[in-house]
Amino acid sequence: MKPPSTIATYIYAKLKQAFGYTTFRKEQEAIIQHVLAGQNAFVIMPTGGGKSLCYQIPALMQEGLALIISPLIALMKNQVDQLQALGINASFLNSTLTAKAVATIKNEALMGKIKLLYVAPETLVKEDKLNFFKQVKISLIAVDEAHCISDWGHDFRPEYRNITSVSRAYLGKIPIMALTATATPRVQLDILRNLEITDAKIFKSSFNRTNLYYEIQPKDQQSEKQLVKFIKTQPQGSSGIVYCQSRKQVEEIAAVLEINNIQAAPYHAGLETITRIKNQDAFLQKEVAIIVATIAFGMGIDKRDVRFIIHYDIPKSLEGYYQETGRAGRDGLPSICLMLYSAVDVFRIERLNKTKPSQERETAKALLEEVQSYALSGVCRRKQLLHYFGEAYEKSCGYCDNCQTSPASYEGSELLMLLIRTVQQTQERLDINQIINVLQGISDPYTEAQQYQYLSTFGQGKGQDQAFWRSVIRQSLLHGLLVKNMKHIHVLHITTQGRAFLSKSYPITLVEDHVYQPSPGNAESMAIGKVYDQTLLDRLKKLRASIAQAKGIPSYTVFQDASLEAMTLVYPITLADLAQVIGLNIGKAEKFGTPFIQLIQKYVEDNNIVTRSDILVKSKAHKSKDKVYIIQQIDRKINLEEIAESQLQSMESLIEDIEQICHSGVKLNLNYYMDTILPKEQQQEIYDYFMKTQEDDLQKAYKALGSRYEKEDIRLMRIKFLSEVAN
Ligand code: ADP
Ligand code: ZN
Repeated sequence: MKPPSTIATYIYAKLKQAFGYTTFRKEQEAIIQHVLAGQNAFVIMPTGGGKSLCYQIPALMQEGLALIISPLIALMKNQVDQLQALGINASFLNSTLTAKAVATIKNEALMGKIKLLYVAPETLVKEDKLNFFKQVKISLIAVDEAHCISDWGHDFRPEYRNITSVSRAYLGKIPIMALTATATPRVQLDILRNLEITDAKIFKSSFNRTNLYYEIQPKDQQSEKQLVKFIKTQPQGSSGIVYCQSRKQVEEIAAVLEINNIQAAPYHAGLETITRIKNQDAFLQKEVAIIVATIAFGMGIDKRDVRFIIHYDIPKSLEGYYQETGRAGRDGLPSICLMLYSAVDVFRIERLNKTKPSQERETAKALLEEVQSYALSGVCRRKQLLHYFGEAYEKSCGYCDNCQTSPASYEGSELLMLLIRTVQQTQERLDINQIINVLQGISDPYTEAQQYQYLSTFGQGKGQDQAFWRSVIRQSLLHGLLVKNMKHIHVLHITTQGRAFLSKSYPITLVEDHVYQPSPGNAESMAIGKVYDQTLLDRLKKLRASIAQAKGIPSYTVFQDASLEAMTLVYPITLADLAQVIGLNIGKAEKFGTPFIQLIQKYVEDNNIVTRSDILVKSKAHKSKDKVYIIQQIDRKINLEEIAESQLQSMESLIEDIEQICHSGVKLNLNYYMDTILPKEQQQEIYDYFMKTQEDDLQKAYKALGSRYEKEDIRLMRIKFLSEVAN
């Protein structure tokens, strides 16, 4: 064996001395060598792969200071603390620091005391304008989470685009590194171009996480129960993350889990920082088993024994999904990634996307479609995921739901042949939808102008519906017969392999898509012993029977089963609590409720049960709970757009809610928001109008003020006015 080169000896010595490790993981050493040779590098490694060492070691081995650009302001302190604990001179600059702290750090940097400086992109640009970085010797620039620069990624951050204005000055002089865990070929290209490092050597590790089991289940109507059931089948105390789409959903699910004796804590950007940190720490230290979170959670967190990741709502992109599922099983032990799929969720997200600017909307739609196809497909999940990340995976993995249940399959070579011929006859110019139209013999002005109705393939695929063809097309991509155009996302081209198949076809087995039927959540499936308190339920039923009998009425007219079941989840012990239970209102609660709450009260005392009746039940309470949430958010001066988004509702319906809140007599202070949308004088003009007018009539207000103001502005000003004057 060749003796290691001197440089390698140094690198290994550094690894041991600084971090205490003795071996590198796969690509790490090669990357470090490359960077030390002064070259640009693009590092693509799955989460947990060990990207940080790739810039940390070169930073320690070179003269000067390494700039690490990261969007994760909340985690910088953590990262730096960890390095400092190892005795490494690291520091960070971002908007959370006081002016004094910034001055100290800059001073240390100028004196050459700092080896690694983490900076947020906006701080980088600002300090560069102040010429600070020009006075410091910089050894390398590492752009972490580099996919944030691409609007094709799942986490586009516009401020990332400004990095180039700074890094450009260093191009060719010092190594520039981009690092990411999520790069589809498309995002990859975007990163290299945006950072102007198209010459960078690409180091791509395999994205296959062999210890992760991927599973999709149709989301039940009783999805909370489905979730509880799943978690209860996991070994007790296992760590898991449940991802939800909205903050409100996060709060609700965390409460449901708690009620069902599963320790869980919520995590989302709307929580106070202190609560967020507390919950995160509790999770890291295993004080709570489950964290329920929006996607904000988990980036940069190093918890190795997460046993399951659940996507309670459909994720918005496959990159996001992959990134989030990647947080499971970093210790290499088997872990489960479960997604609950519901067409309703897809529809909801699509509707929300409609409010986005058109380019963004198209992108969001395309990304969501990928997730949907992934969920519906019967093909090995791993094969689909790896294909999405540009990695060929020929066999089936045997370790995903599709591999283990083998969905129905059929011989597909004739259909594939027809498909590829259609692509060929239309000169490889059409996108997926247009191809399907031609196959089904549907013409539009464009296809007519092109005279596609005279093609021999036109209408040949009529026998199968759109969804079917969609599935065939996706599988043709997986089999490498067709590829998508990089620029025009849905336009299809024929590969060399596809041409070979055209001239001499061979058998190819295709797999049918799933047809997910959400289970209706009937009484039987609701009576899952573990979820409900069966003992209490039996007693409540007995009580109901005796009351019904005494009054000579049928049981269900007292309370329905669903209501009794809900009582065993939330243990209502006042009539007001009881009125919140599904199927009840205060009138009904007063009419029959007293003996029930007495029974529950006694039961709760006898069994030392902590009641959480204020949170669980989604029904009547729902709307008023939303309002409490809105009031809280406004108190905390959260932008209305953000509140609407966090509730998955439109701005218009949020304003309606706010109007109702205002009408119920609550004083709302919207000044913080009004000041961001309207200059003071204009606010005053609208305010004066409402002060003068005798009628509370919005339509008239629009007429009087309308030409100069948005309706939204007028409505909000009226709320402000009523809050100040009437409430
Ligand atoms: P990434 O940024 O790619 O998600 P990290 O750089 O945070 O991953 O590394 C993940 C974990 O692996 C960390 O705990 C890190 O200390 C550890 N690690 C990285 N490289 C090595 C190595 N060569 N030997 C042992 N542990 C390593
Ligand atoms: Zn598989």
